[in-house]
Amino acid sequence: MRDKKLIVGNWKMNLNTHEASLYLHKLSDIIDVRRDVEVVLAPTLLTLQSLSLQVDRRQFKLAVQNLYWRDHGAFTGEVSATQLRGVVDYAIIGHSERRHIFHETDKDTRNKIQAAIRNNIRPILCIGETAGERAMGETNDIIHDQLIGGLANATSEDLKDVTIAYEPVWAIGTGDNALPDDVKKAVVAIRSQIKHLYGVNASKEVRVLYGGSVTADSAADYLSIDGVDGLLVGGASLDAYGFGEIVKKAHKGSAVAKK
Ligand code: PEP
Repeated sequence: MRDKKLIVGNWKMNLNTHEASLYLHKLSDIIDVRRDVEVVLAPTLLTLQSLSLQVDRRQFKLAVQNLYWRDHGAFTGEVSATQLRGVVDYAIIGHSERRHIFHETDKDTRNKIQAAIRNNIRPILCIGETAGERAMGETNDIIHDQLIGGLANATSEDLKDVTIAYEPVWAIGTGDNALPDDVKKAVVAIRSQIKHLYGVNASKEVRVLYGGSVTADSAADYLSIDGVDGLLVGGASLDAYGFGEIVKKAHKGSAVAKK
């Protein structure tokens, strides 16, 4: 799995159904189907269903930005992994906006990871420290706690479908992206924690992404870091051309674009 780069575009609460459909047309013109990169789009819940009918899954996969961990029941306003089964391939879980704006806890995150896994949806577990925690030198502690908190019920078998996204909170949507050296250190800490929990093979095989103010200009710097398997892109994924440029940076060869 790690021979493939994974590029995820998180649209957050942007693009309506019409805009999302136009975007998909544009992006499918820009990027080619290549085996060395997997491209995943995470639109809003509202547009997921229609995009799932439009999308060519050899070219793009879909992710949900959040889900509820119960399979069904009286949970007004929520959508379950069971309902998303077959519509999405991935689920972003524990995004910092979920943790910090909607007060999601590690327990919520862990329940959601389990719900995704039992419904054949691959979780992308987001972890990362705030500016304050960074200033206190607590980055590795946060990585440790959020990994343990999110993965507590996940078996080694489950872990094969889990991707970890290192997303320092202070770098998300701020333009203040992390230095490649700091990302490298965080990725080492993540893999060493996975080794501690699941063994050496798992630590080598688990996919780890970087996210936080990535642009077409900075993408290559992060993609070249040892141990980084791809990117989680927010703001810069909203423009199909810009996102297409980021995807092209992830290809190993040179002939990547259709036009
Ligand atoms: C994100 O939403 O996960 C993200 C990394 O956003 P941005 O690229 O805008 O910082």
